[in-house]
Amino acid sequence: MATSAPPRVPPCVRQIATDLADAKPMRRGSLSERTVKCSKPGCACAQDPKARHGPYYSLTHAVDGKTRSRFLTTEQAALVGQQIDAGRKFRARVDDYWEACEDWADTELADSSASSGEAKKGGSKRISKTKSFRKSKLS
Ligand SMILES: [Zn+2]
Repeated sequence: MATSAPPRVPPCVRQIATDLADAKPMRRGSLSERTVKCSKPGCACAQDPKARHGPYYSLTHAVDGKTRSRFLTTEQAALVGQQIDAGRKFRARVDDYWEACEDWADTELADSSASSGEAKKGGSKRISKTKSFRKSKLS
């Protein structure tokens, strides 16, 4: 038992890991586009929303709980849009990876309870103890 080999990585987990390792420039955050009014006297932007200046693009992202913004040119905005998109796909793939690993963990759990079925009752007792502890905290 102590000399058991490490579990073999299931093909689906290995596949997702390979996908994740195939990295590309990507980022979190969001892209915003806005038009602005200037303060020049007589400029049409003051009256007409369509005459506003821009669009101006900026990237907003959180760093250590603070929101940071960075202005971007139109060309940069297009590229940043792709980078954010790549980041979104990567994050979805990370979620897939977690799910595949958790399925794998469930399989491992089922295998271990099949070989030692009697340990189950002790486990459920422990859970009910935790619940009653929480109740006593409330009163
Ligand atoms: Zn103006």
